[in-house]
Amino acid sequence: MWRGSRAYPLATLTFDDGPDPQTTPRILDALAEHGVRGAFFLIGRRAEAAPSLVRRIVAGGHDLGNHTWSHRSLWLCGPRATRREVMDGHDAIAQAAGQPPRYFRAPWGMTNLALFPLLRRLATPCVFWSVQPEGGRVADPARQIARCVRGAGPGAILDLHDADGVPGAGARLAAALPGIVGALRGRGLALVPLRDLL
Ligand SMILES: [Zn+2]
Repeated sequence: MWRGSRAYPLATLTFDDGPDPQTTPRILDALAEHGVRGAFFLIGRRAEAAPSLVRRIVAGGHDLGNHTWSHRSLWLCGPRATRREVMDGHDAIAQAAGQPPRYFRAPWGMTNLALFPLLRRLATPCVFWSVQPEGGRVADPARQIARCVRGAGPGAILDLHDADGVPGAGARLAAALPGIVGALRGRGLALVPLRDLL
């Protein structure tokens, strides 16, 4: 899945690579303050290390996704390593959250043929994105906001990062988030949880 229906003025913010004890709470605070629920694609080993933060994400009404156990590129994984990355991530998040993740997102969007039968068995659809305002590297807040406005329309799935893959990603997103929310709402888009968009 790359986006929702273009028939409704809805969009979803998605956050990858957390949970991060420093930056994820700031993102959750900003989302709560602005009344936005989105989706968090968690790295299993980070979820295992910060279970209370995972439960806080759930309590905030956000959706959970599996972003693999250790954020390896599945493009470079054989069937056995793929299975480990997917299943261990899924189990760690389910354990920390008290409920299984509903979705899956592959690191860097890299997939392989062994992945999809596993996702079917777990009933976690693979969710990509239609807008990546960080453009592969993390832009400064003003540029992030401008890219959101340019790229987003009805059905948009925005790919953001609440934790560091790129150094400083989480902190910069925390600074940009109020502007991103305001800009998208200014375009007439309601920001809804992923389950409502899909
Ligand atoms: Zn990632």
